[in-house]
Amino acid sequence: MRLYNIIDSKILKERLLNEDFTRKTVSFYRYFIINNPQHFRDLLYQDWSELNCFGRIYVAREGINAQMSVPEHNFNMFLETLRKYPIFDQIPIKFAIEDDGKSFYKLTIKVRPKLVADGLDDNAFDVTNVGNHLNAAEFHELVESGEHVVVDMRNHYESEIGHFKGAICPEADTFREEISMVTDMLAGQKDRKILLYCTGGIRCEKASAYLKHHGFSDVNQLHGGILEYARQIKQLNLESNFVGKNFVFDERLGESVNGEIIAHCHQCGKLCDTHVNCANDSCHILFIQCPECAKKYDGCCSDTCSTIKNAPEEEKVILKNSQNRKFGNSRLYCKSFLLAKKTNFATSENYSGENVTA
Ligand SMILES: [Zn+2]
Ligand SMILES: [Zn+2]
Repeated sequence: MRLYNIIDSKILKERLLNEDFTRKTVSFYRYFIINNPQHFRDLLYQDWSELNCFGRIYVAREGINAQMSVPEHNFNMFLETLRKYPIFDQIPIKFAIEDDGKSFYKLTIKVRPKLVADGLDDNAFDVTNVGNHLNAAEFHELVESGEHVVVDMRNHYESEIGHFKGAICPEADTFREEISMVTDMLAGQKDRKILLYCTGGIRCEKASAYLKHHGFSDVNQLHGGILEYARQIKQLNLESNFVGKNFVFDERLGESVNGEIIAHCHQCGKLCDTHVNCANDSCHILFIQCPECAKKYDGCCSDTCSTIKNAPEEEKVILKNSQNRKFGNSRLYCKSFLLAKKTNFATSENYSGENVTA
């Protein structure tokens, strides 16, 4: 059997829309030594493609990180496949809260050198000496007290649309940048209680070990991350201390936790928390755009990009080369975001992609 997908994504997306059954969106991860990640990857691909599972899964020597959608009628059989491998023993599975089952349209399992591209030297500190795991209710209460240091361990484009009340949300583009910023920012507070959180908990595993190595004495982390928190507070009937939307890396790009919108359109400044990728394929930056601006800029981040998008093929190349900005550099997002903030969400005349240098 084939161990990868060869069908065109347009056809796959259409197929997904026409499915007459429901899917459950789940996620799980674990740090666990896998001796032959490629072989393990192939076994999983076989098991899960037979059950018509979709998703994005990373397998590394250090473990697995999976976001998946599983047909409801195959869910028990899916759990059955998990029982075959010791790595999944008692693994907590998180269910998405806003779930239309359309989050993935194919199955992708990739072997990576590391689970999270964190840029950290794992030999420099003990990665297994992690912080104290707090469940949702415990974390909820400690955040509510307002007495402790709450730190968002995600990138700024994630915390921009949603975060815990009173949390420190560093303006970092990458995890590596984030963790050194946090270590510096909190240098004078090594004895305070630190409460870390991220999307699904996986980044905090590394971050907490790193902070402990750097002398922080009371490091705690939200077990299962925001995904699990959102699910638990619903069950416990607690009022969310997380405001806004939880950014997720699938087709949805985010699910609302408490229904509040806390971010702004990067082009007009209006309240909005919808992430889009610029429709100019050679740009593709991730940014926040309201429906009106989407119309005005034809789904693009700037006039420049909409000009390029709508130009005939042969002119596109010339246009691209005449722009002295680098396309496809995700750092542009950071700059554009800062620019929008600095000008206090000024009009689109003040804000345009051309002012941005990579
Ligand atoms: Zn707008
Ligand atoms: Zn663009």
